[in-house]
Amino acid sequence: MPATLHDMNLATQWHSAVSKHDFPLLHSSALGRNLHYLDNAATSHKPKAVIDTINTAYSELYSPIHRGLYPLAEAATEAYEQARLSLQAFIGASAADELIFTRSATESINLVAQGWARDRLQAGDQVWVSRMEHHANYLPWQRICQEKGAELKIIELTADGQLDLARAEDLYGPRSRLIALCQISNVLGNENPIQQVCANAQAQGIPVLVDAAQSVSHLPLNVVELGCDFLAFSAHKMYGPNGIGLLYARAERLQEMQPLLVGGGMVDEVGEGIAASSWIDGPGRFEAGSQNMPGALGFAAAADFIESLGRERIHQHLQQLTRHARTLLGQIPGIRLLTYDSVPLSSIVSFTLDGVHPHDLAQVAGERQVAIRAGHHCAQPLLRSLDLDATARASFAVYNDRSDVEALAEAIDYARRLFG
Ligand code: PMP
Repeated sequence: MPATLHDMNLATQWHSAVSKHDFPLLHSSALGRNLHYLDNAATSHKPKAVIDTINTAYSELYSPIHRGLYPLAEAATEAYEQARLSLQAFIGASAADELIFTRSATESINLVAQGWARDRLQAGDQVWVSRMEHHANYLPWQRICQEKGAELKIIELTADGQLDLARAEDLYGPRSRLIALCQISNVLGNENPIQQVCANAQAQGIPVLVDAAQSVSHLPLNVVELGCDFLAFSAHKMYGPNGIGLLYARAERLQEMQPLLVGGGMVDEVGEGIAASSWIDGPGRFEAGSQNMPGALGFAAAADFIESLGRERIHQHLQQLTRHARTLLGQIPGIRLLTYDSVPLSSIVSFTLDGVHPHDLAQVAGERQVAIRAGHHCAQPLLRSLDLDATARASFAVYNDRSDVEALAEAIDYARRLFG
């Protein structure tokens, strides 16, 4: 389909703001140079600005944080806390103390399950998740509900892949103790009405956890406006480093939480033998052990990178690519797109092709330098409900352009012809 003049103009403006040249792996590495990388919902590549920040952290600042009393260690501690402040601004939290550095979104959600829900859930209580959750926002709740004799309740989906809130009758009822939802599904790409759920839940005193792993890199986000109690995400899906994530916990909830890990750095006073020990206040209580200072600095640099482009603009760019992908893929005979016209576009297109397993599609596409994901995407409850065991998935990032989408469509059409 020819691009509209409006789309072309936006694409030109976009290209001058960011391109693959800013991403060393996609620009100059042997395996990345000619790659159409469309596996961004799994993880995204890092701009030079983020890599440079991490290099500087190691080459100029590296030393233990919150421990050393010499100038280098003090500078490292200050930089780590400055990163927390930048990320506070990035998500609109009221205080930097409400942000806990973790290893990932997965760890953040487990911290809420084990450090907050464990002491609160009782037999007969309910924890609500949706049918479209990633296993990272499903299994921690399944496990804690099993342990506590609580019920894991599922918000099912409507025929067009939206949360069927009308069918989730007791969602805001007296037994509901927590609602844990993704903001954007990693398979369908659908955006959930989190603000509406938070407002209704808050009116009944029910906390809401938001899994923002797929949204934080391109949806404007303010945790106070959203009204959530917890919010979890990883740096690596938002152009930041691997091995670091974040949990936002509203001050009141943070007070109610117990640490998941105990050890160095989080202690106020350690008792003798089995006598009780006490923990420091603030987020440090949840950050036992030697912390990932270069990761935190890279994380904040990734947030700056996103802010420099503007999340609204990024979102628009990704929506255009998604629309283009839906159009081109939709023209291939035998394709089934897991997308719904009634739902706003985001950055993900999942699909199947009659007679070709998604793994074969991904392999053939890979041979043609198109990197997509195939499988259940860690969302088995969703795929089961769709009667599928796997899909292929293309997902977009700031460095993608229309030529990546065109290469994707050509590769999928080639696979169709290859498998006859
Ligand atoms: N939630 C969603 C919606 C995801 O897509 C992912 C990653 N695929 C996660 C949680 C877990 O993120 P991580 O693996 O970085 O912990």
